[in-house]
Amino acid sequence: MRPRVASRRRRLTWQTQDERIEIMSSAQSLPLKCTGCQAEQNTPIVCIGCHTLYPVPQSADHFTLLGVPRKYDLDESELAASFRSIARNVHPDRFADQSEQMRTLATRLSAEVNRAYQVLRDPVLRADYLLELAGGPSAAEEREAPGELLMEVMELREELEQARARGDRTALERMQQALRTRRRRTLETIAVVAREIDSVDERTRRSMRRALNSLKYFDNLLAERA
Ligand SMILES: [Zn+2]
Repeated sequence: MRPRVASRRRRLTWQTQDERIEIMSSAQSLPLKCTGCQAEQNTPIVCIGCHTLYPVPQSADHFTLLGVPRKYDLDESELAASFRSIARNVHPDRFADQSEQMRTLATRLSAEVNRAYQVLRDPVLRADYLLELAGGPSAAEEREAPGELLMEVMELREELEQARARGDRTALERMQQALRTRRRRTLETIAVVAREIDSVDERTRRSMRRALNSLKYFDNLLAERA
């Protein structure tokens, strides 16, 4: 059962020519209710029922914003559908004839929703984000890759260069394939930790960060192909 977080609500209101926009900022947990029409919402930023916009609560992470469960294994089509619905409803075009505050808010919310979707739709960025939410370390705090990796990458790069120099396409393709497999396996080990991110210790989180760092080496090697 999900604990309900008792929220402290702070209501901000302001008056425009012919409308009164109610802004509610709170650390409210799902399910959410629109203060305007009482309809249940799946996101804290827009009511699909009455098209009221709300600023992003400080406590809202990307998952909350997009109305999907906070976990690594997301249903991709559910995520995409939720994103499209929310993005449509906060789109600035919808608020073209409204007050400047509303238009500004719509623009900001659209940017936030897009950013959240870019992160959550990508397995690597999603794992990275879950790690950050769990307390890190961040990529800036832990720059190391697993110790044995650097040697391996150096050897791989040398082999790639040699294969390239003698124009051995078969060898190149075989190595590219091996690299992709290696990358996929690394992501699999990252996913294992990401699924239990809230219950792993700091040491495990640190090795997850190192594994995430190592993906960049593989990506760089794979990008060198051209
Ligand atoms: Zn509403």
